[in-house]
Amino acid sequence: MFGCDKMNRQDWILIACILLAAFGLALCTARYASRREERWAVIEQDGREIGRLSLQEEREFCITCSAGGTHCVRIADGQARVEEADCPDLICVHQGWLSRVGDTAVCLPHRIVVRIEGE
Ligand SMILES: [Zn+2]
Repeated sequence: MFGCDKMNRQDWILIACILLAAFGLALCTARYASRREERWAVIEQDGREIGRLSLQEEREFCITCSAGGTHCVRIADGQARVEEADCPDLICVHQGWLSRVGDTAVCLPHRIVVRIEGE
């Protein structure tokens, strides 16, 4: 009886392992599929990339410029925009929401570029 119990337990462990492996595989496939559509807001300052934010995560990213200015980029609903800036022209803010790959908001006074990239 004890031996039989042990066998069963081993069987269950085996089944659990197979299920876990299958689940892990499904998870990997799903993650790979969603990664294919993933887009990022790439933030560049003086031509250097300083941030790469997934558009799938809501968040705010603030940059303090060497000149003393501040820019805040907001990510929401799969879009990105320069929400706050203290540059004189505010052209970057007026660009509004960026969502498609290639959409760009440029801040000339502070040399900041926010660009949407994707695969
Ligand atoms: Zn600006």
